[in-house]
Amino acid sequence: MGDDPINHADPNLASPAGRLTAVRDAMRAAAKGVGRDSRAISLIAVSKTHGPEDIWPVLAAGQRLFGENRVQEAASKWPPLKKDYPDIELHLIGPLQSNKVAEAVALFDVIETVDREKLAAVLSLEMKKQGRALPVFLQVNTGEEPQKAGIAPQDTDAFIARCRDVHGLRVTGLMCIPPVDDEAALHFALLANIARRNQLPCLSMGMSGDFDKAIRHGATHVRVGTAIFGTRRPLL
Ligand SMILES: *Cc1c(COP(=O)(O)O)cnc(C)c1O
Repeated sequence: MGDDPINHADPNLASPAGRLTAVRDAMRAAAKGVGRDSRAISLIAVSKTHGPEDIWPVLAAGQRLFGENRVQEAASKWPPLKKDYPDIELHLIGPLQSNKVAEAVALFDVIETVDREKLAAVLSLEMKKQGRALPVFLQVNTGEEPQKAGIAPQDTDAFIARCRDVHGLRVTGLMCIPPVDDEAALHFALLANIARRNQLPCLSMGMSGDFDKAIRHGATHVRVGTAIFGTRRPLL
């Protein structure tokens, strides 16, 4: 994991607003260190397992961009919150099954986990049907782990082209989840390289333990859960 970007001795970490500020400060410091404009980097607050009572204070602190990894769970908590805060932007960051595509397209604003041809085809049809041309990211299995979702790095260029040209998807970025025991920086650099040669502007990479490193490697979206919401709640 490497060095934690958050200073856990900071007394402000007792409140969600304080934790949000600490993450934003660490993001700004990481961006500044490599001469990047921190306004070009979006913080996705990953609220999976947390209920509305955990999300309200984070909304009250001004956060509007959120990530969820399960369609069903997101559908059970976000529609009323979106009614109260119409400017919420919701990213799907977990695996998407074809039978959940209609629900996902109706609820989410960006799908970050397109990783196979069939899903690209089903998404494309459903977006047309609903009149919602959502931006999508493609998930790349940078560590080529058999148990992990994502397209293999060597197949990514061709998959990007097919998503665009055959399925007409608005492919705007790539996302990855590096293997837990690897040096994450290698995976961030690989993802950035694939995005660059395919002219994709967005890179979703970096979580609570390594978002600073991801920013140094060009992340435009970092996905931070624990550092904002605290330890995840047990699944019901
Ligand atoms: C849960 C999750 C995160 C957030 O992880 P933390 O370590 O809690 O910040 C980021 N990305 C994905 C895909 C996740 O499932």
